[in-house]
Amino acid sequence: QNIVDLIIIGGGPTGINCGIAASEAGLSHLILEKGVLVNSLYNFPVNMTFFSTSKLLEIGNTPFISHGDKPTRREALEYYRRLIEKYKLNLHLFEEVLSMQQNADQVYHIYTSKGDYYAHSVVVATGFYDTPRLLNVPGEDLPKVKHYFDDPHPYVGQKVLVIGARNSACDVALETYYKGAEVTMAVRGEALHDKVKYWILPNIENRIKDGSIKAYFNTHVLEIRPQEVVLEGPNGVFTLENDFVLAMTGYQPNYAFLRKLGIEIEPEGDCLPVHDAETLETNLPNVYLAGVVCAGARINKLFIENTRDHGEMIAQRVKEKLVEV
Ligand code: FAD
Repeated sequence: QNIVDLIIIGGGPTGINCGIAASEAGLSHLILEKGVLVNSLYNFPVNMTFFSTSKLLEIGNTPFISHGDKPTRREALEYYRRLIEKYKLNLHLFEEVLSMQQNADQVYHIYTSKGDYYAHSVVVATGFYDTPRLLNVPGEDLPKVKHYFDDPHPYVGQKVLVIGARNSACDVALETYYKGAEVTMAVRGEALHDKVKYWILPNIENRIKDGSIKAYFNTHVLEIRPQEVVLEGPNGVFTLENDFVLAMTGYQPNYAFLRKLGIEIEPEGDCLPVHDAETLETNLPNVYLAGVVCAGARINKLFIENTRDHGEMIAQRVKEKLVEV
């Protein structure tokens, strides 16, 4: 049987980074990605601009060319495509990892939607973008409720309720407002989040102040109906006419998948998948976490920017362990 040194689950920026690090360290590798290359980025809003400068996203000693100081989604897709070409990474797209077990000889057996593989070590770099945080209210399953925003065009002339108070909620409220939607925001707390980027905050605050975007604070959603939403705020329960709900309430790692692999989750606090902060090794020997999945429920703590060293940390550790054996 062919045993790969390192199987990497997830073909996002982190998975690619780990693939490059493995290849540079002389380790055989295989990246398994359930969707398209950098699937999460591909599903980001079409007009989005990263908040990081392209320089801070660079990996693999490869310049990230972008026309502005901050790259667009389209430029990022091209960057990652060129990286896999440059490093000739071994990558299978549209192949989902379903489960994994450790054999008696310490080798991991990985089952996917298309086949199975063996590996000495495994990196889980599955991010958080596949699992939206749900509102858990009646009507959330209606087709007009979206947990992902791609393009403002469908919302032209529509009554849109944006739920949330962070960057993405503010961005979505502004973008749909500028395209002619009638935008209302429902914010659970008493203000917008204090971490909203400095170039977005004055804009959204002024739109709220001048009444172009209506915002209800200390307000939550009770129910979503086909043509209206029911909200509850400081003055009680009220109903608004509504065509679309854009629930920008955040995302979280796919805990069910992590547990299925055998990775333990801390029951309290940030619900971190158990791992050693120094080595990134999980409770399973030779299984590592990399990228934003390491932050558990605190998804605003880790980014591409500040996890770029994960690939090299893991590749070095895997190499050291191979020498020890
Ligand atoms: P992901 O990019 O999410 O990659 C995980 C991959 O794993 C996905 O492609 C997924 O399809 C795949 N996968 C999941 N489960 C399986 C499975 N079972 N089998 C196979 N494949 C699987 N960070 C920055 O540093 N700068 C920014 O400007 C920035 N902007 C952001 C803007 C938005 C709108 C969002 C949501 C996040 C942003 N981030 C930014 C945060 C973070 O950098 C991104 O979330 C980034 O995608 C994280 O990279 P990752 O590789 O760790 O995870």
